[in-house]
Amino acid sequence: MRSSFFRKNIEEMQGYTPGEQPRDTGLIKLNTNENPYPPSPAVAEVLRSFPYDSLRRYPDPLAQPAREAIAGVFRVSPECVLCGNGSDDLLTIVTRAFVDQGDTVVSFQPGYLLYETLAQIQGAVFRTIPFDSNWQVPLDPELYRDASLVFLANPNSPSGTLVAREKVVELADMLPCPLIVDEAYADFAGETCADLPQQVPNVVVIRTLSKSYSLAGIRFGYLIARPEIAEGLIKVKDSYNCDAVSIAAAQAAIRDQAHMQENVRRICRTRDRVYLALKELGFDMPPSKANFLWCAGGPISPDDLYTGLRRRGILVRLLDYGPLGRGVRITIGTDTEMDRLLEAIRDLLAERGNE
Ligand SMILES: *Cc1c(COP(=O)(O)O)cnc(C)c1O
Repeated sequence: MRSSFFRKNIEEMQGYTPGEQPRDTGLIKLNTNENPYPPSPAVAEVLRSFPYDSLRRYPDPLAQPAREAIAGVFRVSPECVLCGNGSDDLLTIVTRAFVDQGDTVVSFQPGYLLYETLAQIQGAVFRTIPFDSNWQVPLDPELYRDASLVFLANPNSPSGTLVAREKVVELADMLPCPLIVDEAYADFAGETCADLPQQVPNVVVIRTLSKSYSLAGIRFGYLIARPEIAEGLIKVKDSYNCDAVSIAAAQAAIRDQAHMQENVRRICRTRDRVYLALKELGFDMPPSKANFLWCAGGPISPDDLYTGLRRRGILVRLLDYGPLGRGVRITIGTDTEMDRLLEAIRDLLAERGNE
């Protein structure tokens, strides 16, 4: 008899470990790239006045009100948009739709760790290609010949770096499969590939309200693709993958572009200031186009930085990419939070200097 009921690949895989969500609210939380500012007041209004009796009914299967708001922002037809329970739901849907057991999924390293988990659940082979020294993707068709799906986080996590649109087009053109451009952080970069699916048929763009819209708690993401791709993906998704409260909140948030953009501007200003301050302290970071910084080199090891900050009440994310390096990813918080961070790091460096 088998010792486990699980499929072999599930038995063997580790599972994705999300960043810690501590109960201790006294901590300054800079570990999961959440937005430090509140969501649009329009969201508060929707939640306050939500017709709770309507919760007896199932929600719209395609999240139509939010779908139309998104289509309006990107000037595409609603048939090009698919909404999901966070962008992780959409990443799951595309993997289930395009990847068979034994197929190959390709992504870039160091990158978002969920892609590997999704490939493993599917029983697929996961192959990573290192970014080059400028954090760009190698443009050699041979590398992608056997791929069934390619994931590119753009801007990338944990590096915060961006691959230019022209290069994304070049990459897509050489692929025998869909290219998933995960734009979780694109609002911070001021550059997007959201219009590419109209010209390049194998590009699928996935976005989320978790970061730039300050709505990680409602779980809402969306995908932009050719209508025929979006239509095929509908067959794979759960019938009611977005709940009624999230749909209403998402619609309100998306309609308030000005609020999102103002918060993005503040965060980018803070990011650029903190980047320079950390450079001055000797840390080595790629220039970030997202709402976080990746410190993989500097006057103190990533482990000591992580532990030293934790002792001082600041939570950051320690990530390990084996031979490709270990580092600390720091989310950009409010100016006050970041001043506390810089103060803690100066203190930590002084303490070590005195040892
Ligand atoms: C945060 C993040 C997501 C997940 O977003 P959700 O919509 O909260 O599921 C997807 N991709 C990347 C690269 C992220 O950093």
